[in-house]
Amino acid sequence: SLPTIYAIMPTHTRHVQKAELTRLAQTFLHVKNFHWILVEDSHSRTDLVTSFLASCGIKYTHLNIKTPEDYQLKETDPNWLKPRGVEQRNVGLQWLREHLDEDSDKGVVYFADDDNTYSLQLFDEMRQTRGVSVWPVGLVGGMRFERPVVEHGRVVRWYTYWRPERPFAIDMAGFAVNLQLILENPQAKFELRVRRGYLESSLLEHLITMDELEPLADNCTKVLVWHTRTEKPKMKQENQLIQLGRPSDP
Ligand code: UDP
Ligand code: MN
Repeated sequence: SLPTIYAIMPTHTRHVQKAELTRLAQTFLHVKNFHWILVEDSHSRTDLVTSFLASCGIKYTHLNIKTPEDYQLKETDPNWLKPRGVEQRNVGLQWLREHLDEDSDKGVVYFADDDNTYSLQLFDEMRQTRGVSVWPVGLVGGMRFERPVVEHGRVVRWYTYWRPERPFAIDMAGFAVNLQLILENPQAKFELRVRRGYLESSLLEHLITMDELEPLADNCTKVLVWHTRTEKPKMKQENQLIQLGRPSDP
């Protein structure tokens, strides 16, 4: 039977959250054998996400963990200062290890962001993953795309501007891991205290070496996922009305 795609996705409260979740759900609804593991960055599961999931029509698991204060990106911080969604992805991994069985459950684990853009073709590709598979990511790293460079069917280096010497110079959206590998390596997780750009490597180093990677998307020549970022909506008038004691209907 078709292996299940387990998509672990951190998500956090902000004005665009429901819009993002709606957009994603309407992509994921088209993917067969899909299990959405949402992990809220919060002290408890919110009513908004709870009711959204109840009616989204997708198989899901709803978890939460609050990022420790010291590691939380501040409003004024540049976004590269601290890695985001780390503890949330680790809680997702922990859930897989506690609920799935090495012998009977067949699947592929993918780490989704709630603001990226996913082609349906990406999921067809990643479902074949035996160990760790990789592919290009669009609109990332200050470039039109980053990608693994493939020679004679093997990944030999990374096409990226920022530190190409990193062990796995690849965005979170650019790889998937066979469930078996996750379950066989219970120590493998994301490191909260990493240098900029080393988060992906902190997990992958536990699992695989570069020459074992499985290049997908036509030997990493096609972009099937984009690291899009949603503009923060302006709330000038909304805030004005709050000041005047006339806030909008909550
Ligand atoms: N995220 C989170 N807590 C935060 C900030 C982000 O859980 O305080 C989540 C976010 O919802 C997304 C993932 O972590 O799913 C990556 O964050 P973001 O998209 O802001 O990072 P970027 O794309 O800028 O690297
Ligand atoms: Mn993002």
